[in-house]
Amino acid sequence: MPNENIIAKDIKLAKYAGFCYGVKRAVETAKKLKAENPNKDVFVLGELIHNTHVIHDLEKLGIRTLTEIPENGEGICVIRSHGESPEVIEKIKQAGFELVDLTCPDVKKVQQKAIELAKDNYFVVIVGKEEHPEVIAIKANAKLWSENVIVAASPEQLVPYKDQIKSHKRVGVVVQTTQRIATLNSIVEYLTSISKELHIANTICASTSMRQSEAKELAQESDLVIVVGSKKSANTTHLAEILKDITKTIHIENADELNEYNELIKNSIKISVTAGASTPQDIIDDVLNKLRKEK
Ligand code: SF4
Repeated sequence: MPNENIIAKDIKLAKYAGFCYGVKRAVETAKKLKAENPNKDVFVLGELIHNTHVIHDLEKLGIRTLTEIPENGEGICVIRSHGESPEVIEKIKQAGFELVDLTCPDVKKVQQKAIELAKDNYFVVIVGKEEHPEVIAIKANAKLWSENVIVAASPEQLVPYKDQIKSHKRVGVVVQTTQRIATLNSIVEYLTSISKELHIANTICASTSMRQSEAKELAQESDLVIVVGSKKSANTTHLAEILKDITKTIHIENADELNEYNELIKNSIKISVTAGASTPQDIIDDVLNKLRKEK
């Protein structure tokens, strides 16, 4: 006879969980390149995606990560979805590598927009974290055209530039593709109060917007949301931050980490699972299987 005190858990997986199209394209193309060029070395400058699991799998296929550009190179060197500065691209070519640029088309659009604004004499503000590789590349591209390019992840970081911004006729804003809309809004609010003319290009990518809005809806009807993905991944961390404001949220890298939250999971009935853009499907499946087993 079933125990009537046990309430079945309702476990849902978000539709937009896991690899986005830019990441999928980068991973699949890198694999294809190696398969089509078995006798050539294939390198990626920096980790192709923020996931140790995937990086190990790529290494097994012979696709290696370069941490710096050697003076002399041979074989293929891939630019990952984050993009690179023109200087780095030139260095790769100078070293003797064959270059394959897998910058995500959405990231390219931000670079283009930042260049356009810089050329048109706007004071350019890039919303994002200074150390993020995508931001470094956007800034380097825009800086070729103007000195007036800065990065800010909060209104506070704009304060030292207040006078400079005030004296400039026009201010243009672009956003790193996986930023939170709330961060963009707070920066725009501050800039509105100190600039004469403000041009905002909301360049948060469609994949990030859809992932974040779907996850917010799921969080509203969940007791617990589990965000799966690397703690080094900016888009996964942003996702967890957004959801924490709505309901109980945990950020884990793999199914094993669920053990740390046994009590919380036991006490939650409606559980939703989502994942960052660099989380492989098998890791998401492991998390779901483990949750379902413990149901
Ligand atoms: S998160 Fe968006 S911009 Fe970044 S790789 Fe994926 S689709 Fe491209």
